[in-house]
Amino acid sequence: MQIAEILIERKALALDRTFSYLDKDDAIKSIGVRVIVTFNNAKVVGYVTNLKKTNLSEEEINKNSNFIMKNIDEVIDVKPLLSEELLSLAYEIKDYYVSPLISVLQAMLPPSLKPKKSALKKPKIHYATYVHVIDKSEDNLSAKQKEIYRLIAREKEIKMRDLMNHLSIVNTLIKLGKIEKFSKEELRLAKDEIFSVQDKPHLLNEEQKLVVDEFLNSKDMTYLLYGVTGSGKTEVYLHLAKYYLDHGKSVLFLVPEISLTPLMVSYFKKRFAKNVAILHSDLSEAEKYDEYRHIASGEARIVVGARSAIFAPLKNLGLIILDEEHVESYKQDSLPFYHARDVAIMRARRNGAKVLLGSATPSLESFARAYRKVYHLLVLKHRINHINLPKTTIVDSSDPYVYDHKSVILSKVLRNKISQTLARREQVILLLNRRGFASRIECRRCGHVFVCPNCHIPLVYHTLDQMLKCHHCGYVEEKIDYCPDCGYDHLSVLGFGTERLEEEVKKLFPNVRTLRLDKDVATKRGNVSKILKEFFEEKADILIGTQMVAKGHDFAKVTLVGVINADIGLAFSSYRSAESCFELVMQAIGRAGRSKLSGEAVIQTYNPNHYAISCGARQDYDKFYVQEMKVRKVMNNPPFYFQSALYIEMETKDDLYSVAMKLKEMLEEELDAKAIVTFDESEEPLFINGRFRVSLIIKYKDFSKVKPTLVEFLEKLKNRRKVVAFLDVDAL
Ligand code: ADP
Ligand code: ZN
Repeated sequence: MQIAEILIERKALALDRTFSYLDKDDAIKSIGVRVIVTFNNAKVVGYVTNLKKTNLSEEEINKNSNFIMKNIDEVIDVKPLLSEELLSLAYEIKDYYVSPLISVLQAMLPPSLKPKKSALKKPKIHYATYVHVIDKSEDNLSAKQKEIYRLIAREKEIKMRDLMNHLSIVNTLIKLGKIEKFSKEELRLAKDEIFSVQDKPHLLNEEQKLVVDEFLNSKDMTYLLYGVTGSGKTEVYLHLAKYYLDHGKSVLFLVPEISLTPLMVSYFKKRFAKNVAILHSDLSEAEKYDEYRHIASGEARIVVGARSAIFAPLKNLGLIILDEEHVESYKQDSLPFYHARDVAIMRARRNGAKVLLGSATPSLESFARAYRKVYHLLVLKHRINHINLPKTTIVDSSDPYVYDHKSVILSKVLRNKISQTLARREQVILLLNRRGFASRIECRRCGHVFVCPNCHIPLVYHTLDQMLKCHHCGYVEEKIDYCPDCGYDHLSVLGFGTERLEEEVKKLFPNVRTLRLDKDVATKRGNVSKILKEFFEEKADILIGTQMVAKGHDFAKVTLVGVINADIGLAFSSYRSAESCFELVMQAIGRAGRSKLSGEAVIQTYNPNHYAISCGARQDYDKFYVQEMKVRKVMNNPPFYFQSALYIEMETKDDLYSVAMKLKEMLEEELDAKAIVTFDESEEPLFINGRFRVSLIIKYKDFSKVKPTLVEFLEKLKNRRKVVAFLDVDAL
């Protein structure tokens, strides 16, 4: 007989403890497998973390403990889910990020292998379930339900799993008889949008060759490849990947968001064919499970995926690449709050592998590390074939003369350049980092603004489904045509987003073919790569969108990029707002003139003299770095200090600030002089998953000195009834 320690998923993830169960028949062969046990009268999936043989009888065991120990019901896995390497990695992550082991396992395993209840249901295959509208009336639906109902009505039919994020609403709509499910046969592995790219490697140019050689000949572990936009970083990645595969090693290639990089995926697929597994967020549970096994079996030796692919069960790992390493989505924004870059380094250390971080606009943290030689810096200074960087014009939007009666959204300069570009049959990208139609709606008589009841920020008007939406928490309500306060029926529609921009472009250039790319279009999965493919194949002239259009794309025919309201991001209160704004401008401009045709860019902004904008426009990373580092230093911000956030959440916001204030004082006292604790009372709390959140920011020089205090503090908070607290180590 043995006693098993079992981790169980529970609502309060913060409870990081195991429960003891008996295994009378020694059915469990090793730790790391899943079992089914009875917990609170329900069958749940648990994860075995420890096994102890015992010679005691059942009675003796129960006499010694203060409860009756139950027997396990069933063993699910024959072999452990995680290799020894990944299991020890799980413990390192738990330890570094001060988070419960169960949350780390949840982050590491594909959905159908996660130790949680729903894993009991096997994923369906071969048939896909769709939904379509059967009742044409919207009566009695809530706003949130209408939003989804209207989406389904618009699309005629949608696969259930493409609506995964709205499952409970979809189910309610089915119960109400508004929509119904039906099945349709489908191929198991959904066909990706494959781009017709050339599969022959380019001969590396001088600069690329130097970089590849330096990487291969050095003994360092972590490298930062800093290469201007269009300098051929992808080709460097592909060459290195091939080298490692040829030498019997496996390769992990991460991108910030896989659906945004279909072109990159196509390159890898063409070059490495059967060897490559793509961990796509669009895959169903069954497909993810297949891919996971394909990798674990050793068949796939190169994995391309987004953040969580860092946990791919590759053996004999030789190289980990993170493309666009500066992008924030590499950090998970829920427990265990890990950063793929740091996990990459943990994995590399275990495997004797190397890490290559690549970007045209490295995060300040990474560049500072390269500067101090913690990372080995590699540089690509020139564009391929020495093509010039785009010529950029900055338009000062506060000067009324830059616009005329035809448009107050697109300046005269930008309009002229668009006409010229279209006349040459070349393509244009227009970036406006705000989706929707109008950014606020106001009553013309009493000034009432439609705001989110949770977040108190203006609701954004979307014309497509006639809804007002909160871009923070997802709250929606139907648009009405009168003021709810005074009843007046003249409302002003203020500010503009991508929907409005697209309408404006169509009005000014009647025959132009446009495509729009933003989170709204991406609600239905698969749409993003479809749109990018259409643009790649020149089925449209102008691509309009949010920051999604600025990410890494390589379209040969794009010779003009326009950025509208480039300063939107500067208004955010994050310490990274200047960096984000700079990155966005620089990356957007970097999409123009990447092949034989030279490019141009127009930046419309209210802050033409802000260094984030002027450096971005000049593609001058070095100058931006120097300026921004000065600001960071004065403000005690990263990379001069490390920082973590303690999130304090409650269901109502009444006591939230006073609780946070008290906790801040307690924490300050316990941390003493080892850290600075701040919190911004002027900010509205965030509304996330049904709770209000404020953040205490903790800044320090040495994590090892503050960590014990933080661990103890969190431990104490676990006994609080109304307060939930999480630690976000290295918070952005
Ligand atoms: P980056 O990622 O640095 O912005 P890319 O890797 O997208 O740049 O490369 C820009 C363009 O140059 C791509 O179209 C790519 O195919 C091409 N390219 C890359 N390396 C070479 C080379 N050695 N010779 C010719 N063309 C190249
Ligand atoms: Zn909100």
